[in-house]
Amino acid sequence: MIMVLETKSEKIMKVANSRGFFYPSAEIYCAKAGFWTYGHLGTRVKQKWENLWRKTFLSLNPYYFEIDDCVIMPEDVFKASGHLEHFNDPLTECKKCHSRYRADELIEKSLKIEAQGLSEDALTKLIQDNKLLCPKCSAELTEVKMFNMMFKLKVGATGQDVMYLRPESAQSPYLAFKREHEALRRKMPMGLAVIGKAFRNEISPRQGFFRLREFTQAELQIFFDPDKIDECDNWDEVKDYELLLYLHNDKKINKVKCEEANKELKLPRFYLYHAAKIQQFYLDKLRIPKELFRLRELSEEERAFYNKIHFDIELNLESLGGFKEVAGLHYRGDHDIGGHQKGSKQKLEVVDENKRYIPHVLELSFGVDRNVWALMDVFYAEEKERTLFKFPPNVSPIDVAVFPLVKKEELPTIAKKLFTELNYEFKAFYDESGSIGRRYRRQDEIGTNYGITVDFDTMDNNKVTLRDRDSMKQVLVEVDKCKNILRELIKGNLKFEDAGESLK
Ligand code: ATP
Repeated sequence: MIMVLETKSEKIMKVANSRGFFYPSAEIYCAKAGFWTYGHLGTRVKQKWENLWRKTFLSLNPYYFEIDDCVIMPEDVFKASGHLEHFNDPLTECKKCHSRYRADELIEKSLKIEAQGLSEDALTKLIQDNKLLCPKCSAELTEVKMFNMMFKLKVGATGQDVMYLRPESAQSPYLAFKREHEALRRKMPMGLAVIGKAFRNEISPRQGFFRLREFTQAELQIFFDPDKIDECDNWDEVKDYELLLYLHNDKKINKVKCEEANKELKLPRFYLYHAAKIQQFYLDKLRIPKELFRLRELSEEERAFYNKIHFDIELNLESLGGFKEVAGLHYRGDHDIGGHQKGSKQKLEVVDENKRYIPHVLELSFGVDRNVWALMDVFYAEEKERTLFKFPPNVSPIDVAVFPLVKKEELPTIAKKLFTELNYEFKAFYDESGSIGRRYRRQDEIGTNYGITVDFDTMDNNKVTLRDRDSMKQVLVEVDKCKNILRELIKGNLKFEDAGESLK
């Protein structure tokens, strides 16, 4: 018998589907590619990631705030933003079976070259010169045509109002800019964040959970004076910090101090400060290993015409075969506010320190779902007797599980009481069925940080066993101290070994 080994992606997908992280939306009918439901565990991971993102980036400046907006927007918005004309992906179709492919992706996969950003003609030439055929039926492919990725809606009873689902959350802060600028007493820089849904009619929503048609973005749009792009109040905080830069003309990761990047690479301080904060978010808060992280510079051909500086944040994900984009840091110039000023015929320029100008935009743009997948990839581990997610506590779905050793005497009653107390402050889980070893494994498999077991001794000494997921070490702690101990462990203020009497 031939053993077919599962790939890492398949393994993650299996746990994700069966344990309630995420699964195809509407799957009891006919699931459509690119649409996913977050289950009870995935929702927790997503919310925790979003909260950490909020805390991290909205605390960088007193004038960085969050807003919330509609996802359906008028056509004029996208005429002005350029999406109607330019938000296209290159499409090629099989002449026989009519399967459709994103031409640049097909070429990159077949020829192992970079093809993103190439014109229709250049992509067609690559397909023809290299005789690329349909991967499904080996028939010829059509010439490459551009395909607009926005979802068009007909709104109202007559259906005559054409509107679109927003393809990026970024448009919301641009549309709200004028009002918020006035409400926030005309301060610059001013940041407006949105965590919300975006919709793209992707040609090939493959790679499982990574390329979706409906997804969540966490984006911060920072409006600022272009003359001050090389100024940064908190420069001292980051000037000696080493960025992991992958420059487009160098093709390897270099450690570059912010000061050096400013002087030698001519990257502006305001940009570098936010790049450093993004890197710290990944390495320090999410505990992504350094070697899996890079800030990849996009060349002029690769980046959108309005982006003056563009680095993608990429993580090396084994399940997806290498470094993949999870976020971007884009200096977009005056494209957005300038475009909407022209389109809406409203004055969006500002008067600041006796100067009139159109604010420029620095965009921090993160795909939440891609980040959730990345966490599942990076923290997935296989050991001799178990598989587990070694999530850091700030993103793990369940903080603590409470178990009675057996369903006898007072043990379930004590355990349930403790569970109820803990569940108010932490996300706790109660489980009394099966052997204790199996119950530990089930919690390890979903990344629960700690386990607490109530046993017969608890009735005499009021102590329970606290177990650490990663080391599987156990310590004895007093029931009344559980809450404080968990709080300190989760905050990282207490080492597990010091949490109680060691049980080895
Ligand atoms: P890609 O090149 O992978 O299509 P992009 O460069 O078009 O992505 P942006 O428009 O910069 O992406 O969007 C910002 C972020 O939103 C991306 O870094 C990514 O994390 C996320 N994102 C974009 N498209 C998708 C998608 N189809 N599914 C899930 N996340 C997405």
